Amino acid sequence: MKIKYFDNAATTAVDKDIINYMMPYFSENYYNPSSIYTPSREAFNAIEESRKKVANVINANANEIYFTSGGTESDNLAIKGFAYANKKKGNHIITSSIEHPAVINTCKTLEKEGFEVTYLKVDNNGLISLNDLEKSIKDNTILISIMTANNEIGTIEPIKEIGNIAKNHNIAFHTDAVQAIGAMNIDVKDMNISMLSLSSHKFYGPKGVGALYVKKGTLINRLNDGGHQENNKRSGTENVPCIVGLGFAIEKAHKELDENVKKITELRDYYIKEIESKLQDVILNGDRVKRLPGNANFSFKHIEGESILLLLDAKGICVSTGSACSSKSLEPSYVLLSIGLAHEVAHGSIRVSIGKHNTKEEVDFLIESIIEVVNKLREMSPLYEEN
Ligand SMILES: *Cc1c(COP(=O)(O)O)cnc(C)c1O
Repeated sequence: MKIKYFDNAATTAVDKDIINYMMPYFSENYYNPSSIYTPSREAFNAIEESRKKVANVINANANEIYFTSGGTESDNLAIKGFAYANKKKGNHIITSSIEHPAVINTCKTLEKEGFEVTYLKVDNNGLISLNDLEKSIKDNTILISIMTANNEIGTIEPIKEIGNIAKNHNIAFHTDAVQAIGAMNIDVKDMNISMLSLSSHKFYGPKGVGALYVKKGTLINRLNDGGHQENNKRSGTENVPCIVGLGFAIEKAHKELDENVKKITELRDYYIKEIESKLQDVILNGDRVKRLPGNANFSFKHIEGESILLLLDAKGICVSTGSACSSKSLEPSYVLLSIGLAHEVAHGSIRVSIGKHNTKEEVDFLIESIIEVVNKLREMSPLYEEN
């Protein structure tokens, strides 16, 4: 059975040309970039080329880019690293209630260590209020961390406006742009961003590698002690093949941006239109316009997202539930609860995230399958009967 993959927000397939570009750095140019002999120079230079490529795409300088093991580490390094380095200035951090766990749980840890965190509420579309943001700023506020685009509902936050507010109050602004790279243009100067997290495997690059942009003059402490790699901010021998892959992938994603966004948005809008016209009692979660090109998160009332997911899985279709329903927790997604969904509605949610490799035929199969599965589950659902 050929897999129909609609979970590109979770991870993406690595392009073959990216793999080919990485290959020589495993066993030909395998040298440690920190070594002094001539062959190491090649590995060192390859990393610096990658740094330039990342910087180019977000309009930063190469010496403002630090390579990490991915989005999670970048978020930790940005928020904890900044908080520790600046705690003499203040201990208050502002974030939102719908951030990725890499940000939310980092903030929770800092709270235990004596930092104070404000979690801004969002409206029914998942947007923060700029007014609330202004009002939550205090004398001891040092950092604002708001994601560029949400991974579950696809909502794109007003990043440029947030950057302006941060700048006017002389507060640093970090954004988790992991979902945004390859989906929209980002200019850290124009948007007044002080720190930005990105992750290679969300834009067709390898897993386990990411980057953090830190604006010149923004102080962060490193989190792991060791050698002097990455300008003393991130110790450990560099993952040369993956860093090289990340550089190739981000440059490619940038070149393909307009073409990919157009194709993916068309497929996404087609999916939304078909679901809304052919099924009743469905809710599109997230902002209709300020939305990532590939994201469509629907709540299908009266049934369970988990059941939909499993029946789709049996047809070779990969999607995600909005809920973090694991064996351990029956709590629905905190993001869906934050936008005001009732528990039982949040439980019936399915996130489809379309990528550049998806075809119209696959989307047709997805639509047909979802309609069939939802109708079947509703026929069996006591909740639906009552309705
Ligand atoms: C995937 C993701 C992360 C985590 O990135 P990893 O590279 O998997 O650690 C962080 N934030 C957002 C918004 C994400 O989508």
